Amino acid sequence: MQKIQNFINGKYVDPVKGEYIDNVEPATGKAFAQVPNSSIEDLELAIDAAQAAFPAWSTMSVDKRSRILHKLADLIEQNLDDYALMESRDNGKPLWLAKAVDIPRASTNFRFYASAIVNFSTEAQVSEGFMVNYTRRAPVGIVGCISPWNLPLYLFSWKIAPALAMGNCVIAKPSELTPMTAYLLGKLANEAEMPAGVLNILHGEGKGIGQAIVEHEATKAISFTGGTATGKIVGATASQQFKKVSLELGGKNPNIIFADCDLDEAVKTSVKSSFTNQGEICLCGSRILIEESIYEEFKRQFLEECEKLVVGDPMDPKTTTGALVSEAHLNKVDSYVQLAREEGGTILTGGKKLDREGFYYEPTVIEGLDENCRTNQEEIFGPVVTLNKFKSEEEAIEVANSTRYGLSCTIWTSNLQRAHRVAHAVQSGIIWVNCWLVRDLRTPFGGMKDSGIGREGGDEALRFFSEPQNICIKL
Ligand code: NAP
Repeated sequence: MQKIQNFINGKYVDPVKGEYIDNVEPATGKAFAQVPNSSIEDLELAIDAAQAAFPAWSTMSVDKRSRILHKLADLIEQNLDDYALMESRDNGKPLWLAKAVDIPRASTNFRFYASAIVNFSTEAQVSEGFMVNYTRRAPVGIVGCISPWNLPLYLFSWKIAPALAMGNCVIAKPSELTPMTAYLLGKLANEAEMPAGVLNILHGEGKGIGQAIVEHEATKAISFTGGTATGKIVGATASQQFKKVSLELGGKNPNIIFADCDLDEAVKTSVKSSFTNQGEICLCGSRILIEESIYEEFKRQFLEECEKLVVGDPMDPKTTTGALVSEAHLNKVDSYVQLAREEGGTILTGGKKLDREGFYYEPTVIEGLDENCRTNQEEIFGPVVTLNKFKSEEEAIEVANSTRYGLSCTIWTSNLQRAHRVAHAVQSGIIWVNCWLVRDLRTPFGGMKDSGIGREGGDEALRFFSEPQNICIKL
């Protein structure tokens, strides 16, 4: 069985204590690799390497840093097939999806920030005849980047690309459940001639090495993506030391379907936004709110479309829905469907595990639940959606806003004024009107309420990974 290693100071190394955890392939339920369970000793080595690399990396010309990141983007593209295969085996997602979305987008993240840093400008204020203020933005130093398992390389690169572009040295930890593509990235960083110590990748458990990265006094900023409960711990720990912290957390996203929408498009896209990546995307809509007059017709078409979904082997190109990431997560999803039954919901389709090896769950649609019940309030993060009726625009907004979360929302209507009105009233960081998951990397990305603090994307991330210094010159 393959034993992967940490990447510290430009070299692959075994964990100091020699401890490993099994990495299980979701499609088979069997271990296919072993992952270092890193300790504070590994972190100290990574910190030493990052500290030694920081002076040269942070003062390297922007143009040179940009070229290294462009090269890394190229190399990921050239290794698309190997990376996609690894991502699919590690996560359980269909291979075609990893090939079409996850890996190309990871490459795009590096390319985007390789260009963004060259175009990044800082502010200046001129008080005529009196003074000039300008803002210098220096890298923060050593930063910790911690990412989840659902879009492994995509979310990993979404953090480390702006951190590196800005001139920081990075200690990064992918999820212990999906470490394989992050592991492979070390080799490509060396091929791209990234100096040793600039990017260090440690593997292991969140509560162990993840927590240690957040706690260590040498990490000056923490960028975290994961669940809201973990985000609370990370935020509390980081703020004790006045570290900069960005938290991208969970969601319970509503799709609001008005009667005047393009029903065909709304149905097809809502099926995608419910079940793409097994429903394991933080931006998936999990509560579909439908105007009463079209409820039955929407439901009929939605269920018809769901029948076309094919759950199965991630390697099969016909598969639309692969395996869930772990047995624990499969059981969590199943327990929520059980809860929905107890709360009075009717299972319209799906509702059980597949009777085969691996962690497969049927795409599940539930109706008849109260908006305040746990199934409609708590994040399930799997292939489970609820259908709910509303009578008026006001009611739709009230129900959309009724959870503790505020990550994303989709609105389906052909009424332009209504689209704007509802978008402004919904408490959500990202709103799509008549579409879903369309992304321009220049836009701010993140959630309101318990979905997180701070924003990623575009210049927001470059600002996060830098310290502004105001310099005032008397004229
Ligand atoms: P998670 O359990 O919170 O873990 C996220 C990452 O944090 C993992 O690398 C985890 O390591 C690590 N971790 C766990 N405890 C830690 C601690 N005390 N200190 C530091 N790091 C720690 O989340 P997940 O289950 O991997 O991911 C699913 C969640 O992420 C969902 O709630 C989803 O909505 C959210 N998400 C949000 C966004 C967004 O942009 N808002 C995007 C994607 C996913 P281990 O895996 O080793 O425990």
